[in-house]
Amino acid sequence: MPKHGSVFSAMLQEFEGAARILDLDPGIWQILTHPKRQIVVSCPIQRDNGQIEVFTGYRVQYNITLGPAKGGIRYHPGVTLDEVTALAAWMTWKCAVAQVPFGGGKGGIICDPTTMSKRELEALTRRYTAEIIDAIGPEKDVPAPDVNTDAQIMAWFMDTYSMHVGHTATAVVTGKPVEMGGSLGRREATGRGVMIIARESARHLGFELKGSTVAVQGFGNVGSIGAELMHAEGAKIVAATDWKGGVHNPKGLDMPALLAWAAEHKTVAGFPGSEPITNDQLFALDVDVLVPAALENQITAENQASIKAKMVIEGANGPTTPDAHHALHKRGVFVVPDILANAGGVTTSYFEWVQDRHGYFWSEKEVNERLEVKMVEAFDAVLKTAKKHNVDMRTAAYIVAINRVATVTRMRGMYA
Ligand code: GLU
Repeated sequence: MPKHGSVFSAMLQEFEGAARILDLDPGIWQILTHPKRQIVVSCPIQRDNGQIEVFTGYRVQYNITLGPAKGGIRYHPGVTLDEVTALAAWMTWKCAVAQVPFGGGKGGIICDPTTMSKRELEALTRRYTAEIIDAIGPEKDVPAPDVNTDAQIMAWFMDTYSMHVGHTATAVVTGKPVEMGGSLGRREATGRGVMIIARESARHLGFELKGSTVAVQGFGNVGSIGAELMHAEGAKIVAATDWKGGVHNPKGLDMPALLAWAAEHKTVAGFPGSEPITNDQLFALDVDVLVPAALENQITAENQASIKAKMVIEGANGPTTPDAHHALHKRGVFVVPDILANAGGVTTSYFEWVQDRHGYFWSEKEVNERLEVKMVEAFDAVLKTAKKHNVDMRTAAYIVAINRVATVTRMRGMYA
């Protein structure tokens, strides 16, 4: 169990607040709080030293009422079934908030990719794909990148699936390399969505991103690109941390140079012209915007009191515990939940899936314009709901999502 308890129970707590306001009937409540399918597989591979090692992998299809399950696959030593189930539930709500026709899924393998060679990662990816092959497919379940997985891993996944079905099936995964059916703009999409939501939130609170100060926890695909795009909007990125360390410069970090440094050194740590900083120090900075873009349970009852930011934009999934969230909301911090703030990734994944199925590809400009429209629509719908029910943005996002999934559940009726 993670230090701050079950991630799935955190999801249930968040669900409950919204379901009560909706006066959700008990039957639908039960359906929406149970995962539809949880798959556990053992994936043996031969390590480079010749030894066989068995890795445990999961794929959870939480709910497929609105369409095929959709969600990433993460490679991390801390992966648990509880975590993957919560993440799959969050994907369900995220797809509903973003109005993309998918259900929610998530996968994970317990492994430490930093200690694995490229060949070992390929073997593990292919074996995992083969083990879950009956459950996935463009109409069934469409994985994507998540923590420590990227376009190359999606390429191996797609190739393995295609070899099994006997034809090239590009739409079985999203986040693929552009050369083989990936979408332009997908790599940047989660970060771009974070920037759009931060911009809209700032306007709602009466300021602009231009000239504002930002701190980012996590410098992976979401944090680094989110920071880059907010910097391009004129924001000052004053601090960033990653799994190896952190950097701080109150005058603003030189973003192009920091991105180049991080690409070369695989960490932001040691970046010239900055002071080292820890995660807790980063959370306590007097900034306008705080973007947690690492893992779950980072902003907790213990450290939330130190947060001075006007708004928290959740780039990661589940970075704030329910207790911390309530305390922040009570103090007037505007928290934009993961299922809205980081929905840019899955939205462009939807565009990728559509393009693959049509065999017709859009320009990057077209992808980004469509993403902009969908993110702003989702933000407006959640804000409107928050005002209508006088609730925080997380509860409002859940109200929007649960209402959409519950409506279709009722329309489809009960089988058997
Ligand atoms: N892993 C991303 C997320 O948590 C993207 C999922 C997808 O594109 O399917 O939203």
